[in-house]
Amino acid sequence: MIGLGADGRKAKTAQHVRMGRLKVNFELTKEQKDIQKAAREFIEGEYDKEKILGWEKEHAFPLEVWKKACDLGFIGIHFPEEYGGQGCGITDNILIVEEFCRKDSSVGIALSLADFSSEVVLRFGAGEQKKKYLVPVAGGQFISAGAYTEPDHGSDITSLSTKAVREGDCFVVNGTKTFITNGCLANFFVVLCQTDTEASPPYRGQSTIIVEKGTPGLEATEIAPKMGIHMTSTAELAFRDVRVPATQLLGQENRGFYQVMQFFQESRVEVAAQALGIAEGAFDRALAYARKRTQFGKKLVEFQVTQHKLADMAAKIEAARLLVYQAAWRFDQGRPDPGLTSIAKMFAGRIAVEVADEAIQIHGGYGYITEYEVERFYRDAKITEIYEGTREIQKNTIASALMGKAR
Ligand SMILES: Cc1cc2nc3c(=O)[nH]c(=O)nc-3n(C[C@H](O)[C@H](O)[C@H](O)COP(=O)(O)OP(=O)(O)OC[C@H]3O[C@@H](n4cnc5c(N)ncnc54)[C@H](O)[C@@H]3O)c2cc1C
Repeated sequence: MIGLGADGRKAKTAQHVRMGRLKVNFELTKEQKDIQKAAREFIEGEYDKEKILGWEKEHAFPLEVWKKACDLGFIGIHFPEEYGGQGCGITDNILIVEEFCRKDSSVGIALSLADFSSEVVLRFGAGEQKKKYLVPVAGGQFISAGAYTEPDHGSDITSLSTKAVREGDCFVVNGTKTFITNGCLANFFVVLCQTDTEASPPYRGQSTIIVEKGTPGLEATEIAPKMGIHMTSTAELAFRDVRVPATQLLGQENRGFYQVMQFFQESRVEVAAQALGIAEGAFDRALAYARKRTQFGKKLVEFQVTQHKLADMAAKIEAARLLVYQAAWRFDQGRPDPGLTSIAKMFAGRIAVEVADEAIQIHGGYGYITEYEVERFYRDAKITEIYEGTREIQKNTIASALMGKAR
């Protein structure tokens, strides 16, 4: 381009377009369409409303569906083959999450979080650690969890009260983590601890350590009842002189904060995909109901007000899908964009709540009744605006990215 004038640049650009080099492609690949179709067919085959409402009522993890999903390779599809996965990208993974949550918000979220935080092991663990923990996660023997939040450190985890002190060949962990997904189910936890209490700023003295279920001194207590995602366990974890072999440290000591921030680039896209799927599922149900229900001698879908509601919902979903896929694609290209990831999570989370709310409205009184499912989609949608960084924290990240961008 050097040395070309305005006309030259124009001609060169036109030539590139003709040659297809500047082509923008919004199509999924054939392999991705196949994964999407397989996920859709699987979850549709597993959908059993009676059972689902039972699990929801009993706050039970959908064990049998999870086992089958692992057997078919849907969980940990983004792990390399040597660690039980299929070497796919996170775009492939989020297509599965979207399909699962679209069919059923509660089952979808429970399945998508069954391998929560295993990516910290994947990206920063040693080969032996990956073999030990990732292969059983993909194989349906292990459920994973990530313990970052503490009672006094939620949005702000730059300093932590949970400490891991080196004693010979061990770390001794003391502290409390709260709101831990899979807390009462998980076989292992990726725990963010303060390993250097003198570090300034404190986040430069944090490390991630794998703590296995059943380690003496570790106690999990269910936090219940809660608003939604009833098929996942949410627990408080108490660590009282928990001795963990130093070999359980993930990556470099005192790099934990940076590892977790990098992990959020991946996990936030997955949460955005949960939200997208939930919005789509609520929309599907609203459209089906509007086509069926008659009032004042007309189907609801014949009222222009209803049509406009559906149009607004569809527009929001379409915009969210573009953002979520783009954020995933950027990650797979090795160019994660924190600002875009946060926009995708913030936007998809908000529209999931709005679309589910409107789906209830379209159902009228029936929308308030559990059997019609949309009230559950609404309750499940809300968490996507809270975990993995609240809506406000996403705005902070977006703003930081904007401030740092020179144009
Ligand atoms: C069901 C559930 C599952 C969860 N799963 C996990 C898990 O598996 N692992 C884990 O570690 N954590 C998990 N969490 C915790 C979740 O990530 C935190 O709840 C969340 O990060 C917010 O922290 P907090 O609840 O302490 O709220 P706070 O940080 O106290 O925030 C309260 C309010 O203040 C706002 N706020 C805080 N700081 C700022 C700021 N700088 N600017 C503007 N507004 C601000 C927040 O946005 C929010 O609206 C889970 C939570 C729930 C409810």
